[in-house]
Amino acid sequence: MIIIAGGGIAGLSMALTCHQLGLQCRVYESAEALRPLGVGINLQPNAVRELYELGLADTLAEIGIEAEEWALFTKDAQLVWSEPRGALAGYRWPQFSVHRGQLQMALYREVVKRLGPECIKTDARLVSYQNDGERIIACFARSSGQTFTSSGDLLVGADGIHSAVRAQMHPNEGAPQWRGTIMWRGTTQARAPRTNNSFILIGTLDHRFVCYPITKPDAGGLTTLNWIAEITPEKRLEPASSDWNREVAKEEFLPHFLDWQFPWIDVPNIISGAQTVYEYPLVDRDPAPNWVDGRALLIGDAAHAMYPVGSNGASQAIVDTRLLGAQLQRHGETQAAVQQFQDDVIEDLNALVLRNRGNGPISILGVVEERRQSPDQAIHDIISQQEVAAHMANYKQAAGFAKDALNAAPSILGEQTIL
Ligand SMILES: Cc1cc2nc3c(=O)[nH]c(=O)nc-3n(C[C@H](O)[C@H](O)[C@H](O)COP(=O)(O)OP(=O)(O)OC[C@H]3O[C@@H](n4cnc5c(N)ncnc54)[C@H](O)[C@@H]3O)c2cc1C
Repeated sequence: MIIIAGGGIAGLSMALTCHQLGLQCRVYESAEALRPLGVGINLQPNAVRELYELGLADTLAEIGIEAEEWALFTKDAQLVWSEPRGALAGYRWPQFSVHRGQLQMALYREVVKRLGPECIKTDARLVSYQNDGERIIACFARSSGQTFTSSGDLLVGADGIHSAVRAQMHPNEGAPQWRGTIMWRGTTQARAPRTNNSFILIGTLDHRFVCYPITKPDAGGLTTLNWIAEITPEKRLEPASSDWNREVAKEEFLPHFLDWQFPWIDVPNIISGAQTVYEYPLVDRDPAPNWVDGRALLIGDAAHAMYPVGSNGASQAIVDTRLLGAQLQRHGETQAAVQQFQDDVIEDLNALVLRNRGNGPISILGVVEERRQSPDQAIHDIISQQEVAAHMANYKQAAGFAKDALNAAPSILGEQTIL
């Protein structure tokens, strides 16, 4: 039996993977009830492939929208780079933009349908674990203060950036790391700029605006446009709370974007159109030297929380569950399985955390800023398209979604398991 701590994207995908492999599992989620929290996320083709192999193609088509383009602009809206994405770029699997909460609820419904409602326990916060020979015992607390234990072969810590499993493994680590950048996130009913689904980033490394739609257009042509406004003030502010659901007034940050009005996108208007805005500090964690302690293992954000600059946090969480699934197929529910999973990926994923800390694919904007001598200098005189293309290809390779490699790769769990 596999104990899964956390019913987020990683935990629920892990439960579906266990079910696909015929392994028993139980998910323990700290929230009293699962609710569709968060705003937009992207699912890269490597993760979409895995969700398709879990039989969720129709679900994704229902809740998501296929990505068409990824484009970067300077703060005066000059195009630095644009590339097609997903199927349009020649991947065998699309890239999807979805509402995080919709994805989580869709995975939850599938878990309940396939594994039964008793497989997921809410109001169950993991507080500690204890390796006990061939077993592991996890201790949980309810919001009432009542505690209980569960014994299994393995404990998978899928409990996110504030992971209690990780805190026990690395007791001196402390809180996630914040370097002064604040993100404000919201959604607004608006026309999608450029294509039906372009990911657009305008600005500099310290002052930027990102948006992309997460629904298909309605009859009036409006989509739910997911956006993120981000600044790194010169004067560092007090550390903000890293709670995904802290609501703030738009007036707190709108002045930073007031003159970002261009013929094809009106940033202040998009920000003003949001009903609710959430503030979140841009945080990550230092790479951990190990994700395994006996029969306990970390996956997803618990293992490798990273800046969302490459839109690959949720994708990697899903892929983790499949790579772990492959080791469970090979070694059974054993310490060897979790150790092998860790050994295969920890070095590359820790390097990816640091790459994202260095702004990942968007670091190219820093290069442009640095080289730019005057506002009217043409972009192609600052940087060649070949240089940007090489930078982007390099990132996709590191993040596991380089097109040719992914298209040619065999199924992680094997064709015979595909649902
Ligand atoms: C409420 C919320 C909103 C988010 N919104 C966004 C967003 O808008 N955009 C974005 O890019 N990313 C968002 N994220 C993060 C994003 O989901 C992750 O980066 C990514 O999907 C990796 O998923 P994960 O399952 O590893 O972590 P998460 O999705 O964070 O899931 C972790 C789960 O574990 C649960 N949990 C935490 N501690 C314990 C414990 N001790 N015991 C049991 N369960 C526990 C949490 O309640 C959560 O359900 C959000 C995360 C959360 C929790």
